[in-house]
Amino acid sequence: MSDIAAAAPQNSLRHIIIGAGMSGMLSAIKLIERGETNFTIYEKGDSVGGTWRENTYPGLACDTPAHTYTYSFAYNPDWNAFYASGNEIRAYFESIADRYDLRKYIQFNTEIGSAKWDGTHWNVTTKDGKTDRGEILVCATGVLHVPVVADIPGLKDFKGPWFHSARWDHSVPLAGKRVGVIGSGSTGVQIVSALVKECAKVVHFQRTAQWIFPSLVREFTEEDKAAFRADPTKIDEIRFGPEAFERRNRFTTAIIDVNSPELAEIQAICEKNFEDNVHDPVLKEKLRPNYLAACKRMIFSSDYYDAIQQPNAYLEAGSIDRVEANGVRMKDGTFHELDVIAVCTGFDVSKFVRPMKIYGEDGLDLDEYWAKGPSAYYAVTVPHFPNMLLYNGPTGPVGNFSLIDISEFQWLYFSQLVDLVRQGKAAGFYPSEAAHADYMARRNEQAKNTVFASGCKSWYLDADGIPAVWPWSYAHFEEVMRNPKFEDYVLTSAAA
Ligand code: NAP
Repeated sequence: MSDIAAAAPQNSLRHIIIGAGMSGMLSAIKLIERGETNFTIYEKGDSVGGTWRENTYPGLACDTPAHTYTYSFAYNPDWNAFYASGNEIRAYFESIADRYDLRKYIQFNTEIGSAKWDGTHWNVTTKDGKTDRGEILVCATGVLHVPVVADIPGLKDFKGPWFHSARWDHSVPLAGKRVGVIGSGSTGVQIVSALVKECAKVVHFQRTAQWIFPSLVREFTEEDKAAFRADPTKIDEIRFGPEAFERRNRFTTAIIDVNSPELAEIQAICEKNFEDNVHDPVLKEKLRPNYLAACKRMIFSSDYYDAIQQPNAYLEAGSIDRVEANGVRMKDGTFHELDVIAVCTGFDVSKFVRPMKIYGEDGLDLDEYWAKGPSAYYAVTVPHFPNMLLYNGPTGPVGNFSLIDISEFQWLYFSQLVDLVRQGKAAGFYPSEAAHADYMARRNEQAKNTVFASGCKSWYLDADGIPAVWPWSYAHFEEVMRNPKFEDYVLTSAAA
């Protein structure tokens, strides 16, 4: 038996959980609730919270309402606002780790290098040479965890500090500085909105204009919080009430049907927000997108339009030629002198569990299996990789939803499959090639009808330009996760 497994209580199947973010912690809590404590969480960082530990940039907030971005079993009456800040969300996950005493199960600063299936177990090796062995491999590694620094000529020659948004260097003072922000996704927009309040100048480098949905600004008072504490049904109202249903239903219907009235409504709201709040005709032309709202991931903001119209802000919509020692040179020759550059150019969304090396049945290398692009049956399991559970895997419902809700549904699905092993019906399970191929064919076809395929570029698109996200309704996702089709699974025996 391996070193870490030997020290663990042997009361159940052993789960090896990779990642102590939202979904890794969820798995741990759900196992503990069942009385199963034979698991370890491996976490490459030094604390819990995943994306909320890695991203600490100014203006960081979650554009999913805080009361819906909360575990269903651990409401938080103390959220300070309808949309919570990144700091507050990180504190929430820290408090959950305390409440469920999770840290004793977590090996911090420990990155898994490889995982190999041996016919009955996964054998993992950490980058520092420790080993572990367990029947179930839970990949809770997140989607947006490999930052991409755009390949902009000269960036490395910039003489001031520069960093990716997910590696924010808080030792760099920003007050009174001239800061360039490259990228106008959800991250760049939040950062610009925050920086104009303290910097001498903010230049926002926008390659593609974005539609912006106006977001609600509502701080919760002490009275609000007391009311939530006294009566959790008030939180239920925010999570499940007609307004929440309307919001989610409108959005999901809109994204899966480009011709829907719901998408037209979203388009109208974004256009009105734009017309009402952007006044200068030159700026208007730079900021007006030439594709449908929600084609790229929808940006929610209450303050970006105001921020970019401040006297110390400038929207640069031209093409960057190169970065020079003192700033950024545009293709038309314009030069922006800068002290600091924040690179907000997103993440490599094709990685998923990688760079870990994963070997499934008969030593099959996941990199080889995914050579033409990552895929997973219903976004959660992969043929020939027994008992490997992917949270938010390829083609999952990422986007403007609460990923916590989604992960909870995925756990419900996983636990029903793991029961097959618990009950001795199989040593391993994985989806059949046929079921996976059928899923992918239906999914790819359906994805072509989504707004994501309506003529813009975004991180939702795979290498073939097909949106690699859930193309059906949220209700269908719930239905599928509640009711696994066991007949689609291959069951392996210990002798296999
Ligand atoms: P992103 O959406 O991928 O945006 C990257 C930005 O960088 C885009 O504006 C892109 O322009 C630009 N870019 C890329 N390469 C460039 C280059 N070579 N030169 C100039 N510009 C370049 O990344 P993100 O903003 O970090 O957001 C990623 C995801 O994180 C979001 O979609 C969301 O899922 C999540 N997020 C969520 C929240 C939240 O509130 N819940 C907040 C922040 C982020 P193009 O548009 O032209 O490609």
